[in-house]
Amino acid sequence: MRKTKIICTLGPATEQTDVLRQLIQKGADVFRLNMSHAEHAWVSEIVPRIRQLAQEMGQPVGLLLDTQGPAIRTGDLKTDLHLNSGDILELTVGGAKGEEPYSVDVNYGGLLNDVSVGDTILMDNGLIRLVVLEKREDRVLCKAITPGTLGSRRHINLPGVYVNLPPLTEKDLADISLGTELGVDFVALSFVRQKSDLDQLRTVLAEKKSKALIIAKIEDRLAVQSIDDMIEGADAIMIARGDLGVECPMEELPIIQRRIVKHCIRLGKPVIVATQMLESMITNPLPTRAEITDVANAVFEQADAIMLSSETSVGRYPVECVEVLNRVALRIERSGGAGYAKSVGLKDARQKTVASAVVLANSLQRAKIIVFTRYGTMARNVSNLRPENAPIFAFTPGEEVRRQLAICWGVYPVRIGFTGDPNVTIEAAEKFLREANLTTPGDQLVIISDVRAGEDRIDSVQLRTAK
Ligand code: PEP
Repeated sequence: MRKTKIICTLGPATEQTDVLRQLIQKGADVFRLNMSHAEHAWVSEIVPRIRQLAQEMGQPVGLLLDTQGPAIRTGDLKTDLHLNSGDILELTVGGAKGEEPYSVDVNYGGLLNDVSVGDTILMDNGLIRLVVLEKREDRVLCKAITPGTLGSRRHINLPGVYVNLPPLTEKDLADISLGTELGVDFVALSFVRQKSDLDQLRTVLAEKKSKALIIAKIEDRLAVQSIDDMIEGADAIMIARGDLGVECPMEELPIIQRRIVKHCIRLGKPVIVATQMLESMITNPLPTRAEITDVANAVFEQADAIMLSSETSVGRYPVECVEVLNRVALRIERSGGAGYAKSVGLKDARQKTVASAVVLANSLQRAKIIVFTRYGTMARNVSNLRPENAPIFAFTPGEEVRRQLAICWGVYPVRIGFTGDPNVTIEAAEKFLREANLTTPGDQLVIISDVRAGEDRIDSVQLRTAK
């Protein structure tokens, strides 16, 4: 059983029902809708299709709506622009008419204030590098320093510049409205700069009575510098290496990744490592050795989830990509992990109870952890301690909680009705596992549940032997 979860970004390569089915069969745990590209009509059509499929297959598949956030993007182009070094590219604002052979509009009027002559502008994940030559009333003239092809809606980075866009743009609010109507399980906030950005999203979700969990995408230096605030304000963290690799010196990236994974585990929040994990498989049927090693590193660090972007949204081998992640993760998990969970601070009695269960499970052969969790918190506490071998079977009465646990390391969420008597619920869970061949007679079951103590209920850890 794989512990590291797999997130797949959806797009034209993966919208067909049979491809979605194969992705789930091969191990996709969560599907991501990238709102920088996805149209509302497409999202409204694909979400119910995924829900239906997941139900048919009996799988807890999570849905993640990823906002565009305060990102500067180029507009639509009739044809791609093939830029050579030295070419002049004109960036217009507010839909001004282009005057140069190479011209594109950008969605951010503040560009004129934010850049100065001589500044660097990066486009498309830093692949195209421009220098600002001249500013006019409604446009900026730049010179291409590196050659490259510019397509529609490409992202622009101004490294080190605080972009004067609100944390949730009009577009984000409209996208979040759609996502909450469709009942997505996670909303990712792009370019989070401070904890108050996350608080704002939490208010919006509460107004819409959505219980979606909030993922903070860490994409620039400001977010990295205040990482503990970000972790505190969010329900999970995404290390968005695409933009991070442009906004920060590239050689810092592995150090930033490791630091964030460590902090997330220490502070008890799930963490996703994202972007370019199998980039060459967008066009090739096999990954490079370096990509395998990058995936292995994230698995060794014990990130909760690893994410595919273009590999599955537009790539030629989406199903094969999931197969590769599954194979690499299973093999590396067998060889042990970094063990950052050893530094987890246990804040309250419930976390200490869970820790004692994990110590017990680690000391046993053939241990399986069973946790009963109404809101997912107890299951997340167990997952965060990264038990050495035991899988974590999390039983919950809520379908939404079940799907939200799909992102957590080592957790196999199962839906079960809770009865008034915890013992009856435990026996039902044991029966489920036995009948699904998830336990075999003699397995050591470490059970975290509440038990009746007179009128009260208290958390307990029990050790039983599977029948
Ligand atoms: C990233 O930058 O790595 C990322 C995941 O964000 P996006 O794909 O939205 O640019």
